[in-house]
Order: sequence, then C-alpha cells, then structure tokens
Amino acid sequence: MATIFSRIVRGEIPSYKVAEDDRFYAFLDINPRKPGHTLVIPKQEVDYIFDLDPEQLGDLFRFAQRVAHAISAVIPCNRVGVGVLGLEVPHAHIHLIPLDTEADLNLSRPICKIPAEEMQRICQAIAKKFE
Ligand code: AMP
Repeated sequence: MATIFSRIVRGEIPSYKVAEDDRFYAFLDINPRKPGHTLVIPKQEVDYIFDLDPEQLGDLFRFAQRVAHAISAVIPCNRVGVGVLGLEVPHAHIHLIPLDTEADLNLSRPICKIPAEEMQRICQAIAKKFE
C-alpha cells in the first residue's frame, strides 16, 4: 500500500508544495513546529533514509539545500535546521525547520496554529524563491 507521502506526490492528497523535480518533492509540514517547517522526500518509496542508495541520499540533501536557501529567503531565522526521525511516516523525509533557538528543532514541541491562507502564502513565497 502506498505511503501517505506517495499519495501526496501523486496528487491524491493535497499538500502545500514548495518544490519538485523528477525525483524529489518538498512540501510544508501540516503540523508545523515553526512557520516554514518543510518536509523533503524522495519520490522513491523507502522507509528508512539510510537505506537509500548513497547517490540518491546525496542528491536528496542537495535538493534539500536548495529548499533550505529558499526558506531562509522567506522566513526570518538564524538558520534552517535539519531533522530526521521517520517515527510516524514510513517514507524517508528530511524536516527543514527555521531555527532561532536549539529548542526549535524539538519535534515534540507544540504545533503552531497557522491559518490555511497563511500556509498558502508561505508556501507560494518559498516556491517562488526556489525557482
Ligand atoms: P516523522 O515520521 O516522525 O518524521 O513525522 C512525520 C511528519 O509528517 C510529522 O511532522 C507530520 O506532521 C507530517 N505529516 C504527516 N502527514 C502529513 C501530510 N498529509 N502533509 C504534511 N505533513 C504531514
């Protein structure tokens, strides 16, 4: 059965897409810990990120680097932090989170309530900077 993230890539489930190419896809986390919290995934359905082919893993991080620069251009922050958990969704993904303090990378922290219109605005702004 397809993962929820594969269903997002196929357009079966909506997402706030910020970037895509033939192998990778980036979209806002639906439960953002900070505004601009973004997930970057390979379209290839692999559960554990370190099971990816080394070249694919490197390319995933190269793609994530471009997304992180786009996030930094839109969301005021000290830097964009990187987190990898995968405890909830069995489809490899990288969390990119705008950081001001160390605590901002704690994924157990409360979810930010961001209205849909604001999520859409953030999404479009990051997507524009990624181009
Ligand atoms: P984890 O697997 O522990 O890295 O967490 C999975 C992340 O995916 C969580 O931060 C969720 O909020 C996020 N997530 C789950 N479903 C969706 C979805 N449909 N759209 C965007 N983000 C999602």
